[in-house]
Amino acid sequence: MTFEAGARAALSDTQLRGALRHATTLFAEKRRAAMATAPDWEGARDRARAIKDETLLHLDRYLDQFTGNAERAGARTHWARDDAEACEIIGRIAEQRGARTIVKSKSMATEEIHLNAALARRGIEPIETDLGEYIIQLAGETPSHIVAPAIHKTKGQIAALFAEKLGIEPSDDAAALTAAARQALRRRFAEADLGISGVNFAVAETGTILILENEGNARLTTSVPRTHIALMGIEKVIPRFADLEVFLQLLPRSGTGQVLTAYQSLLTGVKQRPDDEGPEELHIVLLDNGRSRMLAAPVTRQALACIRCGACLNACPVYRQIGGHAYGSVYAGPIDRRGVDAAADRDRAIGPPALRLELVRCLPRRLPRQDRHPGAVAPPACSGDRAARGQKSPPRARGISLLRRRHGTASPVRVDDARRPHLADRAAAPCVDQVARSAPARAAQL
Ligand code: SF4
Repeated sequence: MTFEAGARAALSDTQLRGALRHATTLFAEKRRAAMATAPDWEGARDRARAIKDETLLHLDRYLDQFTGNAERAGARTHWARDDAEACEIIGRIAEQRGARTIVKSKSMATEEIHLNAALARRGIEPIETDLGEYIIQLAGETPSHIVAPAIHKTKGQIAALFAEKLGIEPSDDAAALTAAARQALRRRFAEADLGISGVNFAVAETGTILILENEGNARLTTSVPRTHIALMGIEKVIPRFADLEVFLQLLPRSGTGQVLTAYQSLLTGVKQRPDDEGPEELHIVLLDNGRSRMLAAPVTRQALACIRCGACLNACPVYRQIGGHAYGSVYAGPIDRRGVDAAADRDRAIGPPALRLELVRCLPRRLPRQDRHPGAVAPPACSGDRAARGQKSPPRARGISLLRRRHGTASPVRVDDARRPHLADRAAAPCVDQVARSAPARAAQL
């Protein structure tokens, strides 16, 4: 289905629009309240951006440091060039352990590589244990929001779904619905042969991964089964443990409007003694899947600073009307990969002007011309532009030689393509305030 067809279908679905309006408004209100509790919100955003810029500039070094420290703590690391390779690595580990059922905590990276379908083809049953993910798995759907996967569903729809799939009495009591899901899932945790999670941040200096959540299901997923596999995009690495202090101010507040999520699991290697908590085996799969290509161009590199808080979706005038499924992409809204491509190359820009406007607004703060020319897509800064302004080319970045080494000559990245980002390019992460302040209600044009 094209974006236009999906958008039109969504616009005529009054239940969907009601659910979206309610949820995105609530998220935005909670976020505003949580932001007010941060001692220096803008300062934290600036520091986060600086950490991300520095990390992306030396990504090869930090990935090397992270994998070295993770392996010293007992983890095994694997490199996946693309979705197929990641599915192959995870499927092979699962088969070698004789896994028949796998519990999963919420992970957009696993959605990105379509892991559930790949596991099912091997005869392995993946069970989503995050409540939102569990709902959409029961419904046979895909997530429509990176933080709240079932945001498009009303309570009534979930009640009907649980009555049909779990055999409970129809109820619109949220506590009763949650209890039904919990009861169904507890048994699955006990049976599971293996657990799969995503990663919110990976700390280079310690080899630690951090997983944020509110339901305790990620904690069970990563500690009850003997084997834990964590899938992370290569952009998730940050240099120092102390850097978490900055990101932990931003992500929970922007993602769910919380000062801090209910659980923060810091996992370093495997358990050391039989009585310790944790898995006997930890496999960390580092996923490229186009990220090294994004790293090579200054404009698309900015998207790798995204911390997946989802706040831009809640503020986006297009997303708020049509939800995530119309985008036809795992990452809906401003961070949608098609939009990243469009921002990098005006010739490949796709979709209606309103969509493109939304996409470029969320990425960098440095594109003021888009305010005056709605619908235009910003070209990346190129050496020709700089020459015209009498500026020297920026120094070459060290690039991502480690990825090339790991991937061999098949890597799509040419090190010489990677350039240092301009210091003035201070794309905010999270950058939703800019969107909320300036985005006009373009959805009506659709
Ligand atoms: S683009 Fe910015 S606001 Fe949107 S999810 Fe990423 S960090 Fe959050």
